Amino acid sequence: MDVKNYDKIFHLNNARSFLIHGDTQSLRYASLEMRYLLEAHVYERLLKGVDTLPKSIIDKWEPNKAMKMLSMFDKYADMDLRLTISNQDGSDSLVIDSPNIKNSLLTSYYNTLGSFLHLPQPTKAAGYQVNKLKLNEIFVALERLTTGNLIIYAIPYESFECEACEQPILYTSHYVENNKTIICQSDKCKNEHHILLEDDLIKFGSIVLAPCGECQTDLKIFYSELKEGTKVKCEECLTEYLGELIFKATTDKSGYGTSLKKT
Ligand SMILES: [Zn+2]
Ligand SMILES: [Zn+2]
Repeated sequence: MDVKNYDKIFHLNNARSFLIHGDTQSLRYASLEMRYLLEAHVYERLLKGVDTLPKSIIDKWEPNKAMKMLSMFDKYADMDLRLTISNQDGSDSLVIDSPNIKNSLLTSYYNTLGSFLHLPQPTKAAGYQVNKLKLNEIFVALERLTTGNLIIYAIPYESFECEACEQPILYTSHYVENNKTIICQSDKCKNEHHILLEDDLIKFGSIVLAPCGECQTDLKIFYSELKEGTKVKCEECLTEYLGELIFKATTDKSGYGTSLKKT
């Protein structure tokens, strides 16, 4: 898709015209145009990273959710950025600004605007009005997003191989420092790896080993599959196992346990 398809100024101008009209129907259209503007702002950013960002971010269709996810990897994702270029003595400086919107505000505006796109519920229908003051406030906040130029502070992405599907899983140091697990970004896989930081080493693991009751060979089970109903087969003696929840008494030293089985 061409970046020209994301035209924030086009949506801003449309929103402005509808706000000037000011009737309920026009205000609804103004809300829609401002939602488009927010989407254009986010998707323009994602398009710039379409070849390097984790696919799970690119595929998120709601802009606030995509940005929240991007921020897990990139701490600068929702920050205003400013680039200053000058001679070494500081003369002839050129300043480029890249205005942005905080994720919390993005979510709040996106949801508020979305609420104006629906007819009022029966209990709220009497005297219903679209909140024009709120719309004007959002318009002013979004107007700044149409100024400046997009600047991206390129975060280095690294990858490791998924233990289930062998596809690369992308991560950043910001992500591993702030999360305990990472999910495989491959569509059909979604295998969850635990993150272990040891000194300067980062380790990822998604497998637990449990001895087969028949032949004692280790069964390999993915953490993500540790749940009721999971089927595992011993590769050595072909014994089949079915996952079952077991609750063990913690107050009784005999280790009395009870299990819940699906019927
Ligand atoms: Zn995978
Ligand atoms: Zn076995």
